[in-house]
Amino acid sequence: MVGSALALALQDSGLEVLLLDGSPMSVKPFDAQAPFEPRVSALSIASQRILERLGVWDGIANRRSSPYSDMQVWDGSGTGQIHFSAASVHAEVLGHIVENRVVQDALLERLHDCDLGMLANARLEQMRRSGDDWLLTLADGRTLRAPLVIAADGANSAVRRLTGVATREWDYLHHAIVTSVRCSKNHQSTAWQRFTDTGPLAFLPLARDGQQDWCSIVWSTTPSEAERLMALDDEAFCRELERAFEGRLGTVLNADPRLCVPLRQRHAKRYVAEGLALIGDAAHTIHPLAGQGVNLGFLDAAVLAEVLLQAAGRGERLADVKVLSRYERRRMPHNLALMAAMEGFERLFQADPLPVRWLRNTGLKLVDQMPEAKALFVREALGLTGDLPALAKH
Ligand SMILES: Cc1cc2nc3c(=O)[nH]c(=O)nc-3n(C[C@H](O)[C@H](O)[C@H](O)COP(=O)(O)OP(=O)(O)OC[C@H]3O[C@@H](n4cnc5c(N)ncnc54)[C@H](O)[C@@H]3O)c2cc1C
Repeated sequence: MVGSALALALQDSGLEVLLLDGSPMSVKPFDAQAPFEPRVSALSIASQRILERLGVWDGIANRRSSPYSDMQVWDGSGTGQIHFSAASVHAEVLGHIVENRVVQDALLERLHDCDLGMLANARLEQMRRSGDDWLLTLADGRTLRAPLVIAADGANSAVRRLTGVATREWDYLHHAIVTSVRCSKNHQSTAWQRFTDTGPLAFLPLARDGQQDWCSIVWSTTPSEAERLMALDDEAFCRELERAFEGRLGTVLNADPRLCVPLRQRHAKRYVAEGLALIGDAAHTIHPLAGQGVNLGFLDAAVLAEVLLQAAGRGERLADVKVLSRYERRRMPHNLALMAAMEGFERLFQADPLPVRWLRNTGLKLVDQMPEAKALFVREALGLTGDLPALAKH
């Protein structure tokens, strides 16, 4: 998703761009009746603006997306809760829940329409310096030479590993179970999140044929609990889910096949080196409770494109680490601040001692009564804070 967005942001720049991916990069015909893909993303308003400007948003809207205008968060082991609404900042929506496959297909469709170099089924296996260039070797033995490599190859980035970029990593000791479920009550275009003793459980609203009874769930829990939940049959899983969610959306009627993903937070110590930049999950992976991973990635792509286009306009050498550092300076503090906040949140809600539980419940209730503090959170969720690239501005 992030690499495609960057390639599109560089179209018509006169730069020679080649987007390579290990996948076939083919667009699947969209079937409105097809089951939901288990992997979804909550796209912020900033991401929507970027995708609109890249000519991709219509491809998403024409397929399937679900706007949400409210967020309800509560502590499962207390009485604290907090409600965020788009209306509080005079916005229509907080964002859209979109299946990752839909975002990828809309991006690919646009890429195929543009005159951009694309190399499908191109799995990178080796890379090394060769003079001022990188020499890339693909799994099928083909080689490529490039002065600048931008790694958008995800959380287990091969580029990051092959170039020896150091990371700071920590295991959350959490796995996330993801699937789509149908509930007996309407989701009210609201993203719901309950903090349980073993981790956050989110119900994110989905829409099909205008109906609002499907949700995408992200259930973060301990590995042993995840193993137990994955082994349950559908009926037993639905009952456990309903209980863990306090039946807020009524009965969980049925669930699609489940996927279990281990969660790890990871942050590259540098995003750039001579002739190299990391963007998206290759640079940082964050706990899904924030719903921000790909949103940070789209902002990385928009900022890096802006930096490269400005430098090209001035006749600077794009592979120069001094040029690339401008991107790192703009993005790293923002990404780090969000990751630290999520880490704090995660620990606060994992903490069991009574005083901590009292404090977080009282805190939630207090903040819920402070409209200005809540508006700050909402602006952060919309992605409209900090040093925004032109592509994300109004
Ligand atoms: C459970 C869960 C829920 C989430 N919910 C949200 C959410 O609500 N909102 C949000 O913003 N984010 C969310 N995220 C995070 C989001 O999914 C990621 O941030 C996003 O997928 C990262 O996109 P990317 O383009 O950087 O990497 P990826 O999507 O991982 O893409 C990497 C690409 O690189 C290619 N590739 C990999 N290795 C090679 C190689 N060696 N050679 C060639 N190509 C290669 C792959 O084929 C792929 O196309 C969630 C994550 C999880 C696990």
